[in-house]
Amino acid sequence: SGKWAKTMDILRDFEDKCATPIGKLRQVADAMTVEMHAGLASDGGSKLKMLISYVDNLPTGDETGIFYALDLGGTNFRVLRVKLGGVENVKKEFQEVSIPPNLMIGKSEELFDFIAGELAKFVATEDEDMQIPPGTQRELGFTFSFPVKQSSIAGGTLVRWTKGFNIEDAVGLDVVEELTKAMERVGLDMRVSALVNDTVGTLAGGRYSNTNVIAAVILGTGTNAAYVERANAIPKWQGLHPKSGEMVINMEWGNFRSSHLPLTEFDESLDNDSLNPGEQVYEKMISGMYLGEVVRRVLLKMAEEAEFFGDTVPTKLQKPFILRTPDMSAMHHDSTPDLKVVATKLKDILEISNTSLKMRKVIVELCEIVATRGARLSAAGILGILKKTGRDVTKQEENQTSVIAMDGGLFEHYTKFRNVMQDTMSELLGEETCKNIIVELSNDGSGLGAALLAASHSQYL
Ligand code: ADP
Ligand code: MG
Repeated sequence: SGKWAKTMDILRDFEDKCATPIGKLRQVADAMTVEMHAGLASDGGSKLKMLISYVDNLPTGDETGIFYALDLGGTNFRVLRVKLGGVENVKKEFQEVSIPPNLMIGKSEELFDFIAGELAKFVATEDEDMQIPPGTQRELGFTFSFPVKQSSIAGGTLVRWTKGFNIEDAVGLDVVEELTKAMERVGLDMRVSALVNDTVGTLAGGRYSNTNVIAAVILGTGTNAAYVERANAIPKWQGLHPKSGEMVINMEWGNFRSSHLPLTEFDESLDNDSLNPGEQVYEKMISGMYLGEVVRRVLLKMAEEAEFFGDTVPTKLQKPFILRTPDMSAMHHDSTPDLKVVATKLKDILEISNTSLKMRKVIVELCEIVATRGARLSAAGILGILKKTGRDVTKQEENQTSVIAMDGGLFEHYTKFRNVMQDTMSELLGEETCKNIIVELSNDGSGLGAALLAASHSQYL
């Protein structure tokens, strides 16, 4: 009927606008490289903040002692206790706590009090063999997955919130000071020895066990990347150059944007309605917080303009963020012949029943389009980093391997996304070079990395 044809028009039009042919991906990668240069040249020189992390030495494997880490991401936060005694000898204990949604958009003190309170509870569970020497102070690596302008390894002010956070009175504050004050309020004696972005933590955690790790990429609630840069390739850096000659840069690549990005009307309306309009444009096309929401917006148009779900528009479908990326992923991976998983998800989440197989196939195809675009754009971003560091080509004289440490729930759990990303890397790099580039899951590397950086910046060294 005409309605079905209209649905297919919407689908095909969306597919066309999401297209990421290899030429476009190369343009995106080149634009990423250009923005990296600009962000390193001067503060405010680019959409990419290219933040200096003050990490100029990555873990060696010789770190020892008992350290804490705290990882504040987009959805959960984790507390971690590690006993370091060489790469083969790490004892880890951790606990994951979900952040009450009201605290994500409340007051700064309330958020930090909550974090410090949970940390204190975790500290109280220390076994005898996880206790620090008497008379010393516990030390913590603080992983904070939001843009921070650092002033030292253990201090920095919040530039702005991203993802689902919006706590106005925290912007501009030193997050280490805020955490330290909150720990004092709950009577917890602990020193923050390192403040690191999750990408920097993942890079450090990855490097600990593999010296070929040169970059880290997070694909979770949001997306970001960090990499090792030559100190003399950072014109904006006025400080003394480190002995190592290197510096880890937190790109804050989620805020990347370029005219080459295949943006659609759905991305534009999602951005307009978001907590941070005009910001994190790349992140909104790629990461876990948003992929399901893009799918929902296309389905809503199909419902409104092509009566895809019948003559009324399902009420639940009108609710922003109701379709989460893990549910999208479950539908996308549905391998039952009659797409039972899709049917169940539609019923449970959107209260839509009686869908035909033909309709469910459209929904799977929609998931495929959105995930593929995100995965291919992520691969282009990584190519941008490889180009900037001169690792995108195989040099005949040296057979260097480059490892990108990956983390985040999206990369870890969304198999089709991960596979498309990896295939696209090979497509972009070519057969020879791609043998020397390894994209590898570094599960929960950021917590370990933060603890390692706390160890290498301990007050007792
Ligand atoms: P954070 O980004 O908050 O630090 P994670 O790295 O654990 O936390 O990522 C969580 C995000 O990963 C979720 O918000 C979700 O978008 C995505 N995710 C989790 N599980 C899945 C899944 N099965 N399929 C697709 N995406 C998932
Ligand atoms: Mg995280």
